[in-house]
Amino acid sequence: MLPRRLLFMTTTEYLPISPLGQGTVEIEAFGSLFCRMAVSHSVTIHALSKHLRSWWLRQNPGVFELSIGGINGKNPMFCGTGLIVQSFVDLLSEAVGCPTLKRTTFLALTPVLSLQGHGIVREGRAWCPACLEEAISSQNQFYDRLIWAIPVIKRCTIHRISLQTLCPRCGSRQARYHHLGQMALCFRCKGSLRQASSGWQTALDTTMYEKECFELVEAISTGNLETVVPDAYSMLLKEGIKSRPEIYDAFGRKSHISMAVTRITLRTSGRPHLRTLMKRCVLLGVSPVDLIRDPIGTFNSVDLLDLAAATVPEDRKPKRPEHLTKIAEKWLKAELEKTDFDSMVSLAFIAKQLGVSKGFLRYRLRELCARYARHRKQYGYLKHVERIRLAADYLLNGPVLSYPSAEYPSHDHLVAAAVSETGVGVRVARLAVEAALKKVTSDWNYRRYREANRLFRVPRPTIAAE
Ligand SMILES: [Zn+2]
Ligand SMILES: [Zn+2]
Repeated sequence: MLPRRLLFMTTTEYLPISPLGQGTVEIEAFGSLFCRMAVSHSVTIHALSKHLRSWWLRQNPGVFELSIGGINGKNPMFCGTGLIVQSFVDLLSEAVGCPTLKRTTFLALTPVLSLQGHGIVREGRAWCPACLEEAISSQNQFYDRLIWAIPVIKRCTIHRISLQTLCPRCGSRQARYHHLGQMALCFRCKGSLRQASSGWQTALDTTMYEKECFELVEAISTGNLETVVPDAYSMLLKEGIKSRPEIYDAFGRKSHISMAVTRITLRTSGRPHLRTLMKRCVLLGVSPVDLIRDPIGTFNSVDLLDLAAATVPEDRKPKRPEHLTKIAEKWLKAELEKTDFDSMVSLAFIAKQLGVSKGFLRYRLRELCARYARHRKQYGYLKHVERIRLAADYLLNGPVLSYPSAEYPSHDHLVAAAVSETGVGVRVARLAVEAALKKVTSDWNYRRYREANRLFRVPRPTIAAE
C-alpha cells in the first residue's frame, strides 16, 4: 500500500533528485539514484516503479507500453547503452525534472559501441568496502558509482582495495538492490554489507584499461561526451587507410587485424565492443574520449615510433579444449532421452561440471541446447501439474471437505497440511488449495451439505470457536 503522499500525486510531484558526484569520476550509477528516490519517497522500489509507469502513461497516453521489467531492484546495473535504459532515463528525467540524469549511464557511448553491449556493465553490484565504511561512519549517503559498473574495473583507486561483489554475511552476489532501496544492505539476508577492514583485499597495481575507463566516466560525468561522432572507430580506420597507410599497417599488424577483416569492418561500419575499443586505444596511445569526439584528428596525432614500441594488451580468454564440446554433446543427448524431470540436470550443472560457462555451451551447441531447454521445460511443466494434482487429491480426500473447520481455519492451514503430507512446495500447495476449493464449491451436493451444516458463509471465527 502506498502512503497517502504518493497516492494523491498527480503530475510532476516527485521530489527532485540529482546525481551525486556529478562532474567527477565518482558519479552515481542510475540504479543507485533510483534507490535513493525510493528511499526519499518512503516506498519500495517496486511500488515506485509501478507508480512511475502509470504516471508516464497518464502523461503520454498511448505513446508506448513501457515494460516495468527494467527499472526495478532486480537489475542493479541498469545503466548500459540500450533502448530500454534510454526510455527510463527520459521518463525519470521528466518525472524529477533533472536534465543530467543521462550522465548516470553509459548512454553517451550508444552511437559508438556495438549494439550487443557486451562488457559495458557487470551483472550485479560491486562496491568498495572502504568507501562504504567511510560513508556510514561520517553519516554520508553511500551510493554506487558508475565506474564500479564496468566489469574491467576491479578495485577502488582511492583506497586501493579490491571491489567487493558478495555479501560478507550470506555470501550472495548482489544481483538486486534491497527492496527498500537501502544501498548499504544485502538484498537477500537484509543484513549490512559492512565488513571489518581485516577482510579487505589490497590491490595496489593498476589494472588493465583502468585509465581508459576513468577517462570515459569522467567525460560522461562532466558532460564532455554530449556530442560524439557516430561510428567513430570505423571512421578512424577508414581515415587511417587513406591518409597514413604506414601507421595503419603497423596498427593492423600489432592488433592482428587482417586486411580481410578491415574490409568487412569498413563495409559494415562495425562498431566495437567497449573492450576492443579500449584495447585499440591502448595500442595507438590515444585517449578513448579523444577518439570518440574527434577520430580523424586523433589518428593524425598518432606517433609511428610510439606505436612501434607499444605492446598489445593480452586479454584473450584461454581457449577451451575441443573435447569438452564433444563430452557436452554426448551428455546433452543422453539427457534428451530421459522423461523423468527429477533425473534431468540443468545446463548450468553440466557447464559447471565441465568447467565452462553456459554461454560457451550455447554458442558451441546452439541447436542441442535449445532442444534440451524445450525438453526440460515440457517435462518440468508436466511434473508441476502432477504435483498440483497430487496435493489437490489429498486435500479433496479430507481437509477441504470440512473447510473452514477448527483444524483448518484458513487457507494457510490447508497449505501447511498439503506441504507436510504430500511433500510439495508451498507454491504448488497454494495452487492445489485453489484448485480443490474451486472444485468443491462448484459441486451442488457439497453446497447443500454445507448449507445444511451451516458451514456456508458463516464467519470464520464462529466456526473456529466451536
Ligand atoms: Zn574506496
Ligand atoms: Zn546477505
